[in-house]
Amino acid sequence: MKEWEKLVRKVTPYVPGEQPNERDIVKLNTNENPYPPAPGVQRVLREMKADELRLYPDPTAAGLVECIAQYYQVKSSQVFTGVGSDDVLAMAFMTFFNGKDPVLFPEITYSFYDVWADVFRIPYQQIPLDEKFQIVPSDYFGENRKNGGIIFPNPNAPTGVELPQEAIESILLHNPDVVVIVDEAYVDFGAESALPFIDKYENLLIVQTFSKSRSMAGMRIGYAIGSEKLIRYLNDVKYSVNSYTMNRTALALGIEAIKDDAYFKKNLKNLMETREWVKDELKGLGFLFEDSKANFIFASHKSVPAKEIFEELKKEHIYVRYFPKPRIDNYLRISIGTRGEMGKLLNAMKKFLK
Ligand code: PMP
Repeated sequence: MKEWEKLVRKVTPYVPGEQPNERDIVKLNTNENPYPPAPGVQRVLREMKADELRLYPDPTAAGLVECIAQYYQVKSSQVFTGVGSDDVLAMAFMTFFNGKDPVLFPEITYSFYDVWADVFRIPYQQIPLDEKFQIVPSDYFGENRKNGGIIFPNPNAPTGVELPQEAIESILLHNPDVVVIVDEAYVDFGAESALPFIDKYENLLIVQTFSKSRSMAGMRIGYAIGSEKLIRYLNDVKYSVNSYTMNRTALALGIEAIKDDAYFKKNLKNLMETREWVKDELKGLGFLFEDSKANFIFASHKSVPAKEIFEELKKEHIYVRYFPKPRIDNYLRISIGTRGEMGKLLNAMKKFLK
């Protein structure tokens, strides 16, 4: 190794799901929303003037922050925005997980958490889920669980399993001395948010995204809601890295997405109905899974290995996600698409699962 290479920050990066270039594929591998963004988003995008790109965006993202604050009935000073929730979460790791004790998160969870911990040199401990893929709250406190912070998604990814509000509150009650982050990337698809706890627990940060429920993964908009103190600390770190994280287009389109609540609710309803139908169909085909409250189902087949199903589906140009990792290497994570797309998936499965 060259001398200069010894000075390099070496990391093993996160591997995002495939974004294949082929046409006419059924893409159920990255939990994208199958429906287009709200009509207002499309209209404002068409009306945008390229000339305005000369100007920097508002570094405080005030318009979007205000809109999110109104929607959730919190103060603007309780909202932070970023370039997708990945950006918000990375900032939160850097800001809040700055101690010596390990940060706790589930062993099976969003596979970016250990990557951020590594890149920011944060010690961490991964806590096993129970046999039903549930987070066990009491594993996050007590004698030998002194920690420097806690993070988990709710519903968890890639399992889709929801942690009930009482369980979240018990984690909060027992951890007043560290920041607890609930990553609610998928909460809109039928789980309960921890938002009601925001005023009671100054150390609770909730992170959400426009990528899934608002059909805007390509625009990269994420946000956090928490106490004014937490948001102030987050902003201090953000302004110490990059003041202009969000571009003008994202700021304008994000506002339009929030404004059209009827469209938002209609899409969620459609997606959840499709999910419940797919659950029944998958059961009929011999799949086993815990109940999912997200826009995906994490399923294993009673006799056919997941990897084989994954490869067969790929031959049919149907993409789902397979994680070759201990304990979950016999599962497929299947995102919920339109009813038509899910019909194609089920038909393909029926052909070779006979
Ligand atoms: N949290 C979880 C649990 C996720 O699955 C994802 C999607 N990969 C994200 C956060 C990040 O999503 P985004 O950056 O698109 O908001």
